[in-house]
Amino acid sequence: MTTYVISGDNILNFNDFTLGPNLIKAITEMGFEEPSDIQQLAIPVLMEETRDFVGQAQTGTGKTAAFALPLLQHIEGYKGKVKALVLAPTRELANQVCTEIDKLSKYSNVKTLAIYGGTSYDKQKLGLKRKKPGIVVGTPGRVIDLIKQKVLDLSELEYVVLDEADEMLNMGFFEDVQTILSGILQEKRMWMFSATMPTPILNLIKRDFKNPSIVKVKKETLSNANIEQIYYIVKKRNFNEALGRLLKVEEEFYGIIFCRTRMETKELAEYLLREGHFVETLHGELGQAQRDLAMSRFKSRKTKIMVCTDVAARGIDVNELTHVINYGLPQDCESYVHRIGRTGRAGSKGISITLTDPREKSRLGRIEKITKSKIELKKLPTVKDLKRGMVVSELEKMSNIANVLFEKGHDFKLDNNFDLFQEGFGPLPKEDVLKVLFTYAFNKDLKRLDEMGAIDDQDAMKKERSKGREQGRRDRGDKSEGGRRGARVIKTGHVRLFMNMGKDDGLNLMSLLDDLSTQSKCQKRMISNIDMKAKFSFLEVPERYGDVFLRKKMKVKNRLVRFEVSH
Ligand code: ADP
Ligand code: MG
Repeated sequence: MTTYVISGDNILNFNDFTLGPNLIKAITEMGFEEPSDIQQLAIPVLMEETRDFVGQAQTGTGKTAAFALPLLQHIEGYKGKVKALVLAPTRELANQVCTEIDKLSKYSNVKTLAIYGGTSYDKQKLGLKRKKPGIVVGTPGRVIDLIKQKVLDLSELEYVVLDEADEMLNMGFFEDVQTILSGILQEKRMWMFSATMPTPILNLIKRDFKNPSIVKVKKETLSNANIEQIYYIVKKRNFNEALGRLLKVEEEFYGIIFCRTRMETKELAEYLLREGHFVETLHGELGQAQRDLAMSRFKSRKTKIMVCTDVAARGIDVNELTHVINYGLPQDCESYVHRIGRTGRAGSKGISITLTDPREKSRLGRIEKITKSKIELKKLPTVKDLKRGMVVSELEKMSNIANVLFEKGHDFKLDNNFDLFQEGFGPLPKEDVLKVLFTYAFNKDLKRLDEMGAIDDQDAMKKERSKGREQGRRDRGDKSEGGRRGARVIKTGHVRLFMNMGKDDGLNLMSLLDDLSTQSKCQKRMISNIDMKAKFSFLEVPERYGDVFLRKKMKVKNRLVRFEVSH
């Protein structure tokens, strides 16, 4: 048995493999510039050797192409029965793999078909008959069904690929996989790919498969360095509230929230919907049509939040997710790696957020150890921040309305009942009218926030602090040290700025936001934590706008204004 380890230096390019021009053309069209580490290791071996093969590399590193390219090259030119069977644990994953192979084989003559449960047999049977696929990608249950019905003929099969092999050889699937394998040629080649390979599975592979080559892409850390890993310590009963608060302050969110059970998935989705977020859900109870619809809305970014269970998420290959949220720690370390590997793909940055019940805190330490990565403790947005954020965002909506209402030349007609409304206020002065409207608009939510207060688990955070972890100290900032009220923690990825104008200069929030956002091109809602003092003010903007504020000559109330970084 051989184990190769690579440190991440890319040595080959796609032309160095013995892949035909049809494949190279497709690869180029797909925009792949150089093979990923696992592709560098696996492709040459799979092109040459006839031994069984095990390839392990983290999520999002191109394992599909690592097996699909050699498969397509080997099968190129064959006509007739199915030559290769790829088994995947979920329908979404089967579809995903099929789509990827379709793209890779755009200029080849090999056809690929996905077959999976939860949808009608007829279409898939017809597909097998008409398309005559060389490669079938399927979920075990449906594959067995179609073999039994003598529709899927594997008598000429030469290659079997287990994608997400750890899952495929795990309880639940193992028997099915054995059943399928028992019915096919002894001379087949078995290829297995996975992000993780727990020891029992590895032992099983060594026992059952013939002297496999085992190739492992080993990086410094198992999980991706592009992922900023954060956690919050919150009691389980406050998870929903914590999540609501986080979603309110994240300026950009396109991500997955992982729950442990279907029940949790459904309940959380309902909560978020009630809070006014559009969400999709994926879990085992949904029918295929519902799952497809959820996936397509999420993929096209019509919905930016996906709530799901681990197994349901196996198939989600969406690049450029900004966040992965763990609604509680996953069952095991492998799931954590799988989950957070959904973000920070293909070189882009991602954030993983884990809500941890204080009782589970120790498991987090273990995950850190095994993944050799750092998960940072943070404080949830404070009540003060949230209240301010709420007012700012409502004000922005109102100012948009004002813009439409009072735009010159735009004769917006109010409904007749406005008179009634106006009369209702009688002779109240403007300030009192505003007070009434403010109370009307915000009181319920402001009060709720006040009553709820901070929901970070203070005891657990204190314990963490007493361990003297440098990180912990930094995150809690000056608040915990001096016990001052109202100190704040700057939002991740934000910079706090000092501005040399304040209330005495007649600043008001709406016009300030207007002025700053038009000149800096930074959206109003991204300018946060504005704190106006008499002679100066503070505010926070996303880091990428920092330079604009510091360098650009900007005017507020027609006066040149100066910014400095505030620490
Ligand atoms: P894995 O199975 O390892 O989780 P996938 O095979 O699903 O990863 O690939 C993740 C994404 O990376 C896909 O969108 C795929 O098209 C893309 N990809 C694969 N290989 C390369 C490459 N060499 N260069 C750039 N992108 C790639
Ligand atoms: Mg994969």
